[in-house]
Amino acid sequence: MPENTTPETLEAPDTVGAPQNVEAPEADDIKFTDFGLDGRVLAALSDVGYEKPSPIQSATIPVLLEGRDVVGLAQTGTGKTAAFAIPALSRMAELADLNGPSKFTQILVLAPTRELALQVAEAFASYAKHIDNFTVLPVYGGAPYGPQLAGLRRGAQVVVGTPGRVIDHISKGSLDLSNLQYLVLDEADEMLRMGFADDVEQILSGTPDDKQVALFSATMPSAIRRIASKYLNNPAEITVKGKTSTGTNTRQRFLQVMGPHKLDALTRILEVEDFDGIIAFVRTKMATEDLADKLRSRGFQAAAINGDIPQQQRERTIEGLRDGKFDILVATDVAARGLDVERISLVVNYDIPHDTESYVHRIGRTGRAGRSGDAILFITPREKYLLRSIEKATRQPVEQMHLPSSDAVNALRMNKFAERITETLATEDVSIFRDLITSYETEHNVPANEIAAALAVMAQGGNPILVKDIPVAPAGQKERAAGRKDGFGSRGPTRSLTEGNATYRIAVGRRQRVMPGSIVGAIANEGGLSSAQIGGIDIRADHTLVELPADLSKDQWRALSKTRIGGELIHLELDKGRKPSGDRDGFKKPFKKREGEGGGFNKDRGHDGGFRSSGHSAGGGGGDRKERHGKGAGAGTTQRRDKW
Ligand code: ADP
Ligand code: MG
Repeated sequence: MPENTTPETLEAPDTVGAPQNVEAPEADDIKFTDFGLDGRVLAALSDVGYEKPSPIQSATIPVLLEGRDVVGLAQTGTGKTAAFAIPALSRMAELADLNGPSKFTQILVLAPTRELALQVAEAFASYAKHIDNFTVLPVYGGAPYGPQLAGLRRGAQVVVGTPGRVIDHISKGSLDLSNLQYLVLDEADEMLRMGFADDVEQILSGTPDDKQVALFSATMPSAIRRIASKYLNNPAEITVKGKTSTGTNTRQRFLQVMGPHKLDALTRILEVEDFDGIIAFVRTKMATEDLADKLRSRGFQAAAINGDIPQQQRERTIEGLRDGKFDILVATDVAARGLDVERISLVVNYDIPHDTESYVHRIGRTGRAGRSGDAILFITPREKYLLRSIEKATRQPVEQMHLPSSDAVNALRMNKFAERITETLATEDVSIFRDLITSYETEHNVPANEIAAALAVMAQGGNPILVKDIPVAPAGQKERAAGRKDGFGSRGPTRSLTEGNATYRIAVGRRQRVMPGSIVGAIANEGGLSSAQIGGIDIRADHTLVELPADLSKDQWRALSKTRIGGELIHLELDKGRKPSGDRDGFKKPFKKREGEGGGFNKDRGHDGGFRSSGHSAGGGGGDRKERHGKGAGAGTTQRRDKW
């Protein structure tokens, strides 16, 4: 093993995060052959077509080859999987040469979701292609035990699993980790966010002390720092700063658009922008289906994935996108986490994500494998102040984009229509219709251009050919939005309802001692709403008026009608006394939302995150979220997390 390829000589730091941390070298000329990797691994790398290591790979591979523990921090899409897989496989292959083949599990990778476990297992298998008698086995929840047990009995040198299922196998005795050499925590931040901290610690402490540990993460919250300093032995902390480093660049733009106009804005973008594959992110499970349906009815090929859709179908859908069977995937954060489809050239943040981390993960779905990508964020006027956090998190400006004017789109549409006529005349036999038209013309005494116009309307199939302008913000709101300092958490006096909102009444009030925070928390959680979608709150003696989107879906109604605050059913109903504009005497009480309230959707994941319990598509409907470690999902129990 080459000793001298370490990017810098490291002295033992006392704690993770000590000053001697390494930053990934910028050097452009490092090659995979520089590391002294096993020839079989190098051959596999050339098979998969990697030309040179990405920065996180250049920095971590030599350190891991030395046998040292590593904390690797780099954004999504920077090639972290290969960074930990390549050195592990290289060492494993050489050990097998020395000691003879072993069936023991030597490498364990923990990943937050089934999709990621599968992806990592696949990547491992591709890099291990030329190593004989080598098995990589994914194990995850939500799938039957039988095949996993059989696979474990046969022996797998690499096991890639979700923490919950790994623990199940350890306690069943089906997974023996007594010969473990190397343990990886992949996407550690996500794993913790999904509530796997205890499981991860349990696994870490139950494995041999002398194993090597690598922790990879996009971010370094304090909980990870704590785990790293407790369970890793004098790790080198390696950070790759900045945006994706597989040589990609994702251009970020935002479009200011009001909620009710998002669909029109999206279809217009789809008409005018060049794209290959697209992911549109929405906030709730219901919204995935809803948006995919609406896009289909407008003639686009779209499919939805969310946590409720059975895993196999989800995978088929992702395959469909990969194979170009359709172009637009509508997804929640959770369902699309880690998804790696090269042809995604555009990420649309149809609903703004809950936090900057999710944003970074989302846009990491494009610009994969050296391609360039585009990210468009739909932002309502009151969400506009969030842009700065995004720019900070991505260290990149987010440019304002403007929709092409309706005139431009209409000209384009007319042009296309004319082209279709030209093409039809050039390629189709129109003689039967020509005769029909000729006889119609004489029988009805109608000029041919009138008849053609009628046929054109028929050809449009009821869809209007011309579009109208989409307002950016309702009159009077632009100034207010610009002048706001207090952000979307404000429950300040709302003088009139925001366009697209309505006033609802819930059957709890001062008498039940409700607080605005618990109302926001409960409604956001159970209804899958963002706290930005919750407007003024006016708590009266025995009821409360709340401003919410006027177009709540059936599922949201259902979820909210079952919602309790402080044990009381809230009996959500539209407030009959008020109309969606005008009424100025409501919402008198200014309430300020405390930070952290109403957020915290991505918590309390079920065992094995995301497979069995599917209620956690970011902010997804309430009710089916599985409780864990005694934390409830109801009002007032929302956890604090890093919000914007
Ligand atoms: P991360 O875990 O950091 O989000 P992945 O490991 O999923 O990133 O890698 C992202 C993509 O980059 C994958 O498609 C992977 O095959 C590709 N990739 C990884 N390393 C290289 C490399 N050295 N050269 C080219 N592509 C790479
Ligand atoms: Mg990864």
